[in-house]
Amino acid sequence: MELVNNRYKIDKVDALSIVEKYGSPLYVYDTARMKNQYEKFFNAFKGVNLKINFACKALTNINILKFFMGLGAGIDAVSIQEVQLALRVGYKPENIIFTPNCVSMNEIKKAVDFGVRINIDNLSILEQFGHEYGNNIPVCVRINPHIMGGGHEKISTGHIDSKFGISIYQMPHLKRVIDANNMRVEGVHMHTGSDILDVDVFLKGTEILLDVAKNFPDLEYIDFGSGFKVPYKSDDIQTDINALGNKLVKRFQEFCKDYGKSLTLMFEPGKFLVSEAGYFFARVNVVKQTTATVFAGLDTGLNHLIRPMFYDTYHHIVNVSKPKANTRIYTVVGYICETDTFGWNRKISEISEGDVLAFFNAGAYCFAMASNYNSRYRPAEVLIHEGKDYLIRSRETIDDILRNQVEIEF
Ligand SMILES: *Cc1c(COP(=O)(O)O)cnc(C)c1O
Repeated sequence: MELVNNRYKIDKVDALSIVEKYGSPLYVYDTARMKNQYEKFFNAFKGVNLKINFACKALTNINILKFFMGLGAGIDAVSIQEVQLALRVGYKPENIIFTPNCVSMNEIKKAVDFGVRINIDNLSILEQFGHEYGNNIPVCVRINPHIMGGGHEKISTGHIDSKFGISIYQMPHLKRVIDANNMRVEGVHMHTGSDILDVDVFLKGTEILLDVAKNFPDLEYIDFGSGFKVPYKSDDIQTDINALGNKLVKRFQEFCKDYGKSLTLMFEPGKFLVSEAGYFFARVNVVKQTTATVFAGLDTGLNHLIRPMFYDTYHHIVNVSKPKANTRIYTVVGYICETDTFGWNRKISEISEGDVLAFFNAGAYCFAMASNYNSRYRPAEVLIHEGKDYLIRSRETIDDILRNQVEIEF
């Protein structure tokens, strides 16, 4: 979103007009921005056979999935429902990798029936998988390299206490399970959590994973997961994707040479591809001066954007109605009967009741985590594509709130 002549524009479309047209609160996504991020990622890993699988749990609207399919992406799915969404959109099964955690063997069997790639992250299911399919169906194994990726503890997945992956210390047992069941390992995988800043920490994980990979002669790909940090503030540092690309490509080529086969290098970014492409708009219902601060109370709450309350994320907030007014200090809060603060002590252009505020970085894990708490409707979603706006999800109605509720007579 850019400020042009005192108006915020998303790919040339006027932000305030979109909110007038579709109502508030509203999620808006910009395909130009997604394409840009996809290409940035792709270009950083030139020289290897690269496959980028969009971790669709970040933003599961089918139009977003369709857009990434057009760019040549695959899908990383964490539930059978995400697998079904991707298939519905038209992804080929071989371009979908199912990377669940703690799901039942039944769900994994369903994924096998759909023909997608299976990534298994614990020895118990791996063993059951081996009994069931032997070497008929190849598998990918998710390794936990036990490195601290950085970021909030709630989004770290690679450390020793994490529930994710098969520990590298269990390699001997892992090998036994594979050999005893004559299983074909087509991929090895790691995903060490979100907000990885340090390229060297990532490369340390890489070495561990490559060391594991040597053990398996039938590999097709090595999947390095994701967790790349995106900037939330103007002075924020982000993962230096080009620096990582340079180093990793070299190392990967070297590995393939030793391995004797040109493997596919896979990644599964979510946030990197969509975080900055999304904006969340809400209207100010009340400006409330208390003895301690000035609250701006919005027509939304943690039901629509839970990240600040869930794991302390920062979302930059601007006043779209008055971009250039003098700034004042506000605490921006929601309408939920629960403490739902979006931002403390924010400098925002002077707010009047009725103004529209915009939250940045609202593409990843925002709508995807929205709920009907307080029996509120979930927001509509709009896509800006090539300078035009498209409604891609209608606002809910009372029928949506009542759907699946079963009224009994008593
Ligand atoms: C959530 C998730 C991702 C995406 O993480 P980002 O930080 O959004 O890039 C990738 N892989 C797996 C297995 C995940 O669960």
